[in-house]
Amino acid sequence: MEAAQHLVTLGPSAVELVDRTMIDLSRDIPMFVKTVNAFVRGAPDALLLVEFSGEDQADNIRKLDALEEMMADLGHPNGVVRAEDPTFQKAIWEVRKQGLNIMMSMRGDEKPISIVEDCAVELKDLAEYTRRLTEVFEKHGTTGCWYAHASVGTLHVRPVLNLKKDLGAKALRAVAEEAFAMVREYKGSHSGEHGDGIARSEFHVDMFGQEMVDLFQRVKDILDPRGVFNPNKIVNPPRHDDRNLFRFDPTYEERVRVHSPIETGFDWSHWGSFSQAVEMCNNNGACRKTDGGVMCPSYRVTKDEKDVVRGRANSLRLALSGRFGNDALTSDAMADTMKLCVGCKACHNECPTSVDMAKMKTEVAYQRSKHHGVSLRDKLIAYLPRYAPWLTHVSWLANLRDQIPGLPWLSEQLVGLSKDRTLPKWHSGYQAPKAAPETNRPVVVLLSDTFNRNFEPDNLYAARDVLEALGYEVIEAKPHMGNRPVCCGRTFLAAGLIDEAC
Ligand code: SF4
Repeated sequence: MEAAQHLVTLGPSAVELVDRTMIDLSRDIPMFVKTVNAFVRGAPDALLLVEFSGEDQADNIRKLDALEEMMADLGHPNGVVRAEDPTFQKAIWEVRKQGLNIMMSMRGDEKPISIVEDCAVELKDLAEYTRRLTEVFEKHGTTGCWYAHASVGTLHVRPVLNLKKDLGAKALRAVAEEAFAMVREYKGSHSGEHGDGIARSEFHVDMFGQEMVDLFQRVKDILDPRGVFNPNKIVNPPRHDDRNLFRFDPTYEERVRVHSPIETGFDWSHWGSFSQAVEMCNNNGACRKTDGGVMCPSYRVTKDEKDVVRGRANSLRLALSGRFGNDALTSDAMADTMKLCVGCKACHNECPTSVDMAKMKTEVAYQRSKHHGVSLRDKLIAYLPRYAPWLTHVSWLANLRDQIPGLPWLSEQLVGLSKDRTLPKWHSGYQAPKAAPETNRPVVVLLSDTFNRNFEPDNLYAARDVLEALGYEVIEAKPHMGNRPVCCGRTFLAAGLIDEAC
C-alpha cells in the first residue's frame, strides 16, 4: 500500500490489489487455479497488478522495465512478474474481475461482508489507513479481505463475519462506525465507487452534514414525491444492522433446522452442511451467461430462471428454510425445478463460487426416493448395470421395442419411457480380453462400463486396438466385485439411489 503512491507516477492504467485470501480462495476454484499458479510467485500476503496499456508497445515495455527498477528501489528486488502475453494478461484480469465472487466462495457461515468495502482515502494515507483498519478488524475478532483499486485509494475491504448470529451483526456495526470515523479523519469518502444503499445511508449525516442530507431529501421529494423509487436509500434509511433485512434473518437458522432433512445421502461436510452448500450461490448470475464455457445447458435452451443454477439454488434455499411450506424439498415442484439439470457439473467448474448443482440434484432425488419411493421408470434406469448382463443374452427381444409399431406407445403408458425417443440398441456377446499373459509389456486396466459393454462395445474394441498398438497389455477390471458389478454408479445416482451407487 505504501508502494501504490509511487507506482502511479509511472502512469499505469491500473494498479489493483489482490490479497492473500483471494489468492488462496482462487486456488480452490477450478476455473482460476491454473492462472493463479502461473502469476503468483511464492506466498505473498498481497500483490499489486500494474497495467500499462498505451498504444505504443515499446513504451509499455520501457515502463515495465522502470517498474522493475522502482520496485527494487522500494525494497522488492525481483518483485515483478512480467505478463506480456495478451492471453495471459486476459486470464489474470479475469481473476481480478471475479474478485467479489472469489471472496464469496469462502465456505461456512463466516463470509466477507459488504459494509466498509467502498471507502476511499488519498494515496498518501492509504498505507496508514489499511494498517489502522486491520487493527479495527482484529479488535472485533476478525480479519479483512482486500482487493481492487489501489491506484485511486479505493480498496474493496470486507470483514469476515457470520451474519446468521447476533454477534456478527453487532461486530458489523462496530466495524462500520470505527472505519467511517477514521475515513472522515482522512477527509476521505465512505462510498468511493459504489452506491450507498442501506449499508451506508445511515451514516450520511456524519459524512456529509445535516444540511447536505436535508438537500438530498428535498431533491428526492421533488423528483419522487410518493417515494416509490428505491425507497429508504440515501434518505430515510433504516438501521443498517436490522437483522430482519438480512438475507439470513434471525429465524433463518431455526427454520433450516426444522425443515431440512437431518440425514443426507451425501457427505456435505466440505461445505459444512447441505444447506451451507446451497448458500454458496450468492446470486452473482454467472450461470446466465450464454457465451463461452458450457454453463448452464438447460438455461441456454429454455432461458427460464427456473432452469438456471441460481434459480435452482434459490428454490433449494427457500425450501430448506421452510419458505415453501413443509416437505418442499421432496415435492413435485422441486423435482420439476431439478428435472432439466443434466448433471453436467459445468456449474461446479465455471461458477465463481463453484456451486455443485449436479450433486445437489442427486441429493434432492435421494430425499425424494426416501419419501415417495422410486418409480418403475427410474428403477429400470437405475438397476441397468444389474440386469444388463442377462438381458444381452436376449438382446433381439429387448430391441423389439423400437421395431414393432405401438410398442413405444405401450412403454410410455406402462413405464413412462417417452414414445418419442428411441432406446439404445442392445448388443450381445461382448468379448472381454483374456487374462493378461506374463509379458514384459506395461499393463493398462480398461474400465469397461455398463453402457459400452452392452450398447456400444465397438468403443472398447477400438480402445483396446489403440492401446495394444501402442505396446500396452490390456486387461479389464473384473465384471463383478463382491456382490456388485464394477460400475460408475451413474444410473443409481440419476434415481437418487446413493447407497446403491457407492
Ligand atoms: S449441472 Fe445442472 S445446473 Fe449445473 S450447469 Fe449442468 S445443467 Fe446447469
